[in-house]
This record gives sequence, structure tokens and C-alpha cells, in this order.
Amino acid sequence: MTKPTPGRIEVITGPMFSGKSEELIRRLKRARIARQRVACYKPDIDLRYHRSSIASHSSQTHEAHTVTNAERLREALFPQLHEVDVIGVDEAQFFDEAIIPLSVELVHLGKRVVMAGLDTTFNAEPFGPIPALMAIADEVTKLSAVCMVCGQPAIHTQRLGQSQELVVVGAAGLYEARCRSHFQPYLDEHNSEQLELPTIQPI
Ligand code: ADP
Ligand code: MG
Repeated sequence: MTKPTPGRIEVITGPMFSGKSEELIRRLKRARIARQRVACYKPDIDLRYHRSSIASHSSQTHEAHTVTNAERLREALFPQLHEVDVIGVDEAQFFDEAIIPLSVELVHLGKRVVMAGLDTTFNAEPFGPIPALMAIADEVTKLSAVCMVCGQPAIHTQRLGQSQELVVVGAAGLYEARCRSHFQPYLDEHNSEQLELPTIQPI
């Protein structure tokens, strides 16, 4: 009797500009070269490029479906699950906690689940479901960016200016990568709402 293919959870994490989307796109493209069937999802917040693709800051893209939450992801994925080998998710930090049991369910069904997302907010706090996903993953890839002050490896996302907005994906000029020495968290109590999903009008 042939053993079923074991599932696998991979997490790609790090600050903004660390190459998470690039790495996710690279893995999904390689899976397709291996004739595996890929389905990719992103939350409704990613305003860069088209709603039907994910994109990196280096302009690489991969087709993706936009979904509003983990339940919608499940509803979109499950009818075609028998035709899917690899499930990619970008900006996974913006999904609700239900993404965690969904990942476990998928891995038990033999799927390869690749999640890319920010590990910390611009206040250096753990971001949404990413810490839990890192804990249950088979493999975690923690990338660093380049500090925009000194050029050393950067693990933080520095918010520039006084915007109260959540880390808005693709908001060029609002955020940059910083090392520990040059990171200055904005320690303001008003910031406690930064983990909430803003309402964004579809484009
Ligand atoms: P992430 O998804 O982690 O935000 P991307 O994959 O979208 O990252 O983009 C990574 C690319 O961003 C790099 O290959 C590089 O071209 C570009 N880039 C811009 N600023 C930086 C930086 N400070 N450090 C590293 N890469 C940067
Ligand atoms: Mg990205």
C-alpha cells in the first residue's frame, strides 16, 4: 500500500522588504515546474497591483485570489481542493486566528501550505496568527531586510512619520527596514488598534 504524501506547513517571515513575497513566489513557481497544482490567496488588504495576483517590491508576481478572511479562503479552496497540491498565502499576518486550524486541517489532508507574513508590527509586537503558525510549522524561514540607515541586516519594520494606520501593504515611503540599533518603535497607547483589519474598498 502506498503511503499518502505527508503534508507540510512552511512559514516565510521577517520585516517588510525582507523578500517574503519573492520567496513565496519562487517556491510556488518551482512547485508548478514540478507539475504540482498551486492555489494562492491573499487578504483583501494588499492594494498593490491587481486583486488577482500577489506581488513583491521587486515587481515579481503570481496569480492569487483575494479573500476577506480565513473562512472565505476555506470556501474558495475546498470545492477545488482535490485539484490542489500546494496552497500559498501572502500577507498571512492579516488573516484571523482561524487560519491556524485551517492550516492544520490542510496539512492533515496531505497539502503543502506555504504562508508568508510579517512576524512583527511596526511596534515590534508579534503580528496576528504568524507566531502560532511559526510554532506549528514544519519549517520556518526568517528573512532579514537591509537596514536603510546603516546597511546591516534589518529585522524590524520602521514606520516613518506619524500615520496611525496599520501596516498598509505597498504603501511606499511609509515604512522602511531597520536593524535593532536604528529601530525606533512608536510607543503610543493609541497604537493598540494596529492589529485590527481596516475596511478597505475593493479596487
Ligand atoms: P516582503 O514581501 O518581505 O515585503 P518583497 O519580496 O516584496 O519583500 O521585496 C523584496 C525586495 O525589496 C528585494 O529583493 C529588493 O529588491 C527590495 N528592497 C527594497 N528595500 C529593501 C531593503 N531595505 N532591504 C531589502 N530589500 C529591499
Ligand atoms: Mg510581501
